[in-house]
Amino acid sequence: PMPVLAIVGRPNVGKSTLVNRIIGRREAVVEDRPGVTRDRVSYEAMWAGRRFKVLDTGGWEIDVLGIDAMVAAQAELGIEQADAVLFVVDATVGATDTDDALVKLIRRSGKPVVLCANKVDGPSTEAEAAYLWSLGLGEPYPVSALHGRGSGDLLDAVLKVL
Ligand code: GDP
Ligand code: MG
Repeated sequence: PMPVLAIVGRPNVGKSTLVNRIIGRREAVVEDRPGVTRDRVSYEAMWAGRRFKVLDTGGWEIDVLGIDAMVAAQAELGIEQADAVLFVVDATVGATDTDDALVKLIRRSGKPVVLCANKVDGPSTEAEAAYLWSLGLGEPYPVSALHGRGSGDLLDAVLKVL
């Protein structure tokens, strides 16, 4: 069976944009409003000659319990099915309490993780990405899912743990 990579992160950090970047097609629904799409969640991808599945964990219906419960539940479902986790943080916002909660979930799972500092559209935002070392998940890979910047290095790192 194909290895599964779960894309985990808060709403609006750019998970679906990153999924589209990874699969090379615009199939995941990108929304300015967080958490309201009923998206397809599983996609096939290939990088450096290797095939794998990508799970976009942001596609399920919003939870009545609120955004944090929804994010945690979706992350948990995705992590459970995954062989490795790609954790996405918005570098222009930095790590929030919800991000810290997600880090705990990922750690508890024991699954390998690669940290993506997204929305690094240019060199001026790279310093922001470096702050994310403090999450304790290793090197933050600065990426612009929107423009493609850094996505090759990110995928190389993903394949090392997948
Ligand atoms: P998701 O909720 O995590 O799936 O996030 P989306 O992929 O739907 O993106 C949320 C918003 O962030 C959209 O308006 C995207 O265009 C924007 N976005 C995503 N990636 C980037 C990026 O690398 N740079 C910038 N500037 N905006 C981005
Ligand atoms: Mg999404």
